[in-house]
Amino acid sequence: MRDDTSTLPIPADANGPPALIRRRDNGLLYYQFQDLSPFPELVHGIFGRLGGVSPAPFASLNVSLSVGDERTRVVTNRARLCQTLDVDAQAIVMGQLVHGTRATVVLERHRGLGAVNMDGLPATDILVTDRPGVPLLMTFADCVPLILYDPVRRVIGLAHGGWRGTLLGVARSAVRAMQEAFGCRPGHLIAAIGPAVGPCCYQVGQDVRLLAQESFPNDCEVFIPQADGSWHLDLWQATRHWLTLAGVQHIAAADWCTACHTHEFFSHRGENGRTGRFGVVLALQECGP
Ligand SMILES: [Zn+2]
Repeated sequence: MRDDTSTLPIPADANGPPALIRRRDNGLLYYQFQDLSPFPELVHGIFGRLGGVSPAPFASLNVSLSVGDERTRVVTNRARLCQTLDVDAQAIVMGQLVHGTRATVVLERHRGLGAVNMDGLPATDILVTDRPGVPLLMTFADCVPLILYDPVRRVIGLAHGGWRGTLLGVARSAVRAMQEAFGCRPGHLIAAIGPAVGPCCYQVGQDVRLLAQESFPNDCEVFIPQADGSWHLDLWQATRHWLTLAGVQHIAAADWCTACHTHEFFSHRGENGRTGRFGVVLALQECGP
């Protein structure tokens, strides 16, 4: 692959999150989890905002069609992600994200749904599949990217958790979907929690705490009181909570705040809502047994 990253700005914190490997290929910077790298059949990449063609406020690697960016630019950016990972951009499957906990099993016939338009799978924040060659793509700007992999059954899951979905247990729903559809055992799964807005930057209102009361009766686990009387929500910890409850033991986490690193990631909070979305790609390779 080409390595023409000489024009990319080097992030100040050049080492990045310890759980992740920072890679530069094809003019793009992206991350991969150390814990997911031993599996040659698995392809994944967490792309930041650098190396795309979109202008501000979507500069530059915006992969969302729902933020007001031009479609041709978004499709070009998506093609760059796919080229970097050597997956088929025409085969991408996306979900129409609604901050819920509903999962969709991605089948062969879904190949290409949402790749170049907004016709992704309806109302779903969780995609699971055992199909090789059907890359899953989700878009983020502070919400939690959750990657799940079962190396025994060779099943992948990708989930999107905003505050509502995270508190309502989107992580547990993703694990359950893999259990129900493919017989996965939670003890076999590797879970990887990607960069998202951290407890340092995520102030929430009383309505959010009230929603969480049932799931988190001991809410000091995920709500951190501030000196001014407000509360900060820890989405990373809430995701860990649900994964543990679902029986997942192997959990890797970036613990990397998108709002603290807007030079490299889009952040809804960090940029007052006017921004793009970065992409997370997850796929199984088409290869021999
Ligand atoms: Zn932060």
